[in-house]
Amino acid sequence: MQAEIIAVGTEILLGQITNTNSTHIAQGLAELGIDSYYQTVVGDNPARLTAAIAIAAKRNDLVILAGGLGPTKDDLTKQTLAAYLGVPLVEDDPAMQVIEQRFAQTGKVMTTNNRLQALYPQGAQPLTNHNGLAVGAFYQNPDTADFVLLPGPPREMKKMFDTEAKPRLQQAYGQQAQIYSRVLRFFGIGESQLVTELQDLIATQQAVTIAPYAKTNEVTLRLSAQAATQADATAALDAVEAQIKTQVGDYFYGYGDDNSLAQVVIETMIARQLSLTAVESLTAGLFQSTIGSIPGVSAIFPGGLVTYANTAKHQLAGVPQATIDQAGVVSEATAMAMAVGGRAQLNTAVALSFTGVAGPDELEGQPAGTVWIGLAYRDQPTIAKQYHFAGDRQKIRERSVMAGLDLLRRTLAADQGTKK
Ligand code: ATP
Ligand code: MG
Repeated sequence: MQAEIIAVGTEILLGQITNTNSTHIAQGLAELGIDSYYQTVVGDNPARLTAAIAIAAKRNDLVILAGGLGPTKDDLTKQTLAAYLGVPLVEDDPAMQVIEQRFAQTGKVMTTNNRLQALYPQGAQPLTNHNGLAVGAFYQNPDTADFVLLPGPPREMKKMFDTEAKPRLQQAYGQQAQIYSRVLRFFGIGESQLVTELQDLIATQQAVTIAPYAKTNEVTLRLSAQAATQADATAALDAVEAQIKTQVGDYFYGYGDDNSLAQVVIETMIARQLSLTAVESLTAGLFQSTIGSIPGVSAIFPGGLVTYANTAKHQLAGVPQATIDQAGVVSEATAMAMAVGGRAQLNTAVALSFTGVAGPDELEGQPAGTVWIGLAYRDQPTIAKQYHFAGDRQKIRERSVMAGLDLLRRTLAADQGTKK
């Protein structure tokens, strides 16, 4: 089952209006599982409209025309389609009554043009216009494609398509195989590397299409499968997801369009009742601000420390002055001491620490982008990891936060214990 949408109107061709009608209709067709490989826009010109109708009818089972049902001289869609089909236009009595009532109420004089709005091609089912006067039509054709006629004003078109046309299309053609999709999210791998790793899978995939999309600091893959039922789609998507995970599963962190690394980490911590604090130097609260945006975080986040100067690291987080003097402020030892100190101060299960060079200048002989992230996790030995981030000051701080979340996610994944 294949359909083409033809939006009629010179103003669309001139770029004066955006073709939102076709977008709405296309979404509806996708929901019905009706394939659509072409969309056309044509001006208010009968010869060109006839040609567009002929092309569309030849390559589709259904053609949906929107626009040009009104009473004015440039509204020719109905007349053009009727001529193409070789049928006359006939009057829809209920629509004509509404028009007559409207003119009686307003006291305006009705012209023959106005009557035009109640006409539809003979043999079609008229479609009621709940938000206007022009009647639409569904014309089923045993020989060539079927046709739907819709008005141009979006308010009228949407209501008529949703409540009048869609149910008739569903009844006429049944529910077709629909497209189901699933979004997988990855952190720590670039788009080109991900695509390279999955090259063979993407090239040989038949049932499921795999579309990569690069976002800030992460990549998503949208898997789409066409199937008759949700269960069939789930089976096809599960199979491809499993194959993807054998290759790049290490970078996978979650599902969905509306998700983030912070959300996944915090939701896991909440589910496991693991409390969290942070001791932040170069990020100066950015990590805590990021987790603060996740609803429900208060269950596991009592607060934390911003220790920018060495004195604050010593006074607030209890980092020994000797550690800073001997190892330096951007060091494994200081990062570990910050995490340990923060965990003790806030009495949490987990503490992260951030110390590094945000730049632009170097610090203690270390270049901008050098960052140590410490992690004191439950009763495991405290660790710290070194990173080298590219970018300006803000990028380095943002990447530090993401790396901290990633470190935490990986540690949580490795630890299968559930309670503190
Ligand atoms: P009317 O009775 O208002 O003349 P009509 O069915 O003849 O309605 P058109 O004349 O083609 O429809 O368009 C009327 C108005 O509807 C346009 O000026 C525009 O604002 C809007 N419109 C038409 N086509 C589209 C479209 N494809 N996408 C969004 N808006 C549209
Ligand atoms: Mg018009």
